This record gives sequence, structure tokens and C-alpha cells, in this order.
Amino acid sequence: MVMKIAVLPGDGIGPEIVTEAVKVLKALDLPFEMEEAKVGGAAYDAHGHPLPPATLKLAMDSDAVLFGSVGDWKYDKLDRPLRPEQAILGLRKNMGLFANFRPAICYPQLTHASSLKPELVAGLDILIIRELTGDIYFGQPRGRRLSPDGEFKGAEEAFDTMRYSRPEIERIAHVAFQAARKRHKRVTSVDKANVLETFQFWKDVVIEVHAQYPDIELDHMYVDNAAMQLVKAPKKFDVLFTGNMFGDILSDAAAMLTGSIGMLPSASLNAKGQGLYEPSHGSAPDIAGKGVANPLATILSAAMMLRFSLNQEAAASRIEAAVQTVLEQGLRTGDIYSEGTRKVGTVEMGDAVLAALSRQG
Ligand code: NAD
Repeated sequence: MVMKIAVLPGDGIGPEIVTEAVKVLKALDLPFEMEEAKVGGAAYDAHGHPLPPATLKLAMDSDAVLFGSVGDWKYDKLDRPLRPEQAILGLRKNMGLFANFRPAICYPQLTHASSLKPELVAGLDILIIRELTGDIYFGQPRGRRLSPDGEFKGAEEAFDTMRYSRPEIERIAHVAFQAARKRHKRVTSVDKANVLETFQFWKDVVIEVHAQYPDIELDHMYVDNAAMQLVKAPKKFDVLFTGNMFGDILSDAAAMLTGSIGMLPSASLNAKGQGLYEPSHGSAPDIAGKGVANPLATILSAAMMLRFSLNQEAAASRIEAAVQTVLEQGLRTGDIYSEGTRKVGTVEMGDAVLAALSRQG
């Protein structure tokens, strides 16, 4: 059966790194049908909107979306709904991508690049699962007004709404427990139940859902403590799962433990298993067009796509093994370079992954 992949390279380094991932996918010789469309600033320039209807339709009709990155400071003056970053929010919302998976793996060859001591990160392999379509990022009402009460009644103020419904919490809790079953069977649910009503409810619902997963060990951690534990003893975690805002912050902190954001893939899935796969980093306008961006996070995102949306576990493992091989060979893009290794550009790195794949036989 043909697997339909929407390829959305986007802005900045997006086109450079997606080209390498597509090259790797093509080398697998599987029945893919790939179609490319503009998204983000590139789509705004061409069609006046960061997520044109044709791009959205292509994504919705595909089995999976391979996404580069969007954004550039030159669009900062546009009205918010027209900014490139709105494309990713629009895709999440329209495709119902509520579950974000971000593995934080520290490759043995890159322990020195971590901001922590090598012994704290060597062998690190944690999975952060972030709820992606609720919480204070989407809660209504929100806005600006004159304060209706309090010490500064009548003063200008802004407000957002933090909220989670039972079904929203239940479905992400199921995702976390099921993911833990394929790993070390431990889940840490991160909340702020001591202060926030929303997260006391989160904790209560997670405990109820956990009753269906007696084989999984569950513990709860306040978000401030979780931030501390991530930099003190990150290997204690197996699956760390949390809401949208806490997950946004903690997953970036976890990214740095692994050395470079240029190595980290991510997946955002909906209830049908359809997913959007993208590197955890942004469009890096500072290095765009220079041919130096690390394509490995995008190549590893393609591996996640094969595993989670396309049911091609063997092909996913092949790509991951090929990435390991190029790291063992000492090839490094600038972001992960250290003395004694060989600095390569984006295309050379992609070619090395291809060569490693072909040598697997
Ligand atoms: P960024 O992740 O783009 O860059 C941060 C730093 O990491 C930069 O120094 C960059 O050169 C470096 N970097 C990032 N990816 C790299 C790679 N693959 N190889 C080597 N170095 C890499 O974050 P930023 O600078 O805060 O944001 C730049 C733009 O990206 C902004 O417009 C922002 O809104 C957007 N952004 C988009 C997404 C997305 O598309 N999902 C996510 C985050 C940021």
C-alpha cells in the first residue's frame, strides 16, 4: 500500500534539512508518495498566508507530514495570525495533534557536548510526552482589558485561561501509559497540583486512568521539582508526561542535556495515528543557506514517522542505526563538533547517512 507523505520544508534551514531526510527516505525503497508544499513564511510570501488551504488539505489527506521549520525575524512585524509560527499551530489544531513525543537521547559519542557532566547524561534515554492542544496556550477567554477588580482595578491588564477537560487528560494519559509499556514501564506525571486547580484535576484523572495500567509504575512530581531533577539526575526518568506549557519548557531543558538541539526529533500524533514529524529546533535563520545545519534531527524525525504513523519499524531502526554509524565515524556538523572529529556540512552528513544505510546490506 502506498504511504502518502506531505513534505513541508518551511523557512530558514528547513529546506536544507528536509532535503537530506527525503534523500534518506527515498533510499529505503518503500512505496512512498511524497508531495511538497509551502508553509510558514515561504507560504506567506507566495500565497499571503502561512498555512494556505492547499497546504492544509495536503497535510490532512496524508498518512504523515514531514515538517522542517518555520519562522524568520523578518516576519515579526506581521499581524499574529499571519506570522509563520501560526502554521504549526493551525496544523496541530486542524489535524487534532494532541500528543507530542520528544525523546531526549544522549548518544555516547556526544556526552561531552552536554551542558551536564558526562556521567549524568551517558546513556540518557527519556521520552517526554507533552499534551499539545489544550492548557493555557489555547484556553479561552484570553485578551487585554481594564482590570475589573483587585488592587489595580481599572488598570490595563492581560489574561489567559488555563483549563483541561477530563477527556483531554484521559487521552494523553493513555498515550503516556501505552508508550511506557514499550519502554521501562515508568511514568512521571508532572503537575502543579499544590497551587493550580487545573493540575489537581489533572493529577486526579491521571490516577484514575492509571488503574487500567497496573503493570506501569506511576509517580507524580511538581513542575518546579521536575525542572530541578532534569538537571540533577535526568536518568531517573523513563516517560515524563505533562501539560502543554510545562512540557514546552521542560522539553527544551531536556534537549540541552543531550548536547545539541540539532540532534532531537519530535512527533505530534492524533487519535488516528496520523502525525507531524519535525526537528525540535527552529528555522535557525542565523545559519540558513550556509549549508552547515545539522540534518540529523530531521532524519531521526523521519525514522519516528516510519515507526509511529507508517508501521515500518524495521526501516525506522535502520535509519537510527545509520545515524549511530556516522557518529561513530566521527562526522560532526558545527553544532556537535569537537576536537578530534571531522566537521562536515549538511549535505555531506546526509550523504554519510545514505552510505551507512547502503552498507547495512
Ligand atoms: P532555533 O532553534 O531556530 O535556533 C537556536 C540556535 O540553535 C541558533 O543558534 C541556531 O543556529 C541553532 N540551531 C538550531 N537548529 C540547528 C541545526 N539543525 N543545526 C545547527 N544549529 C542549529 O531557535 P530561535 O533562534 O529561537 O528561533 C528562530 C526562528 O525559528 C524563530 O522565527 C522561531 O519562531 C522559529 N521556531 C520555529 C519552530 C518550528 O518551526 N516548530 C520552533 C522553534 C522556533
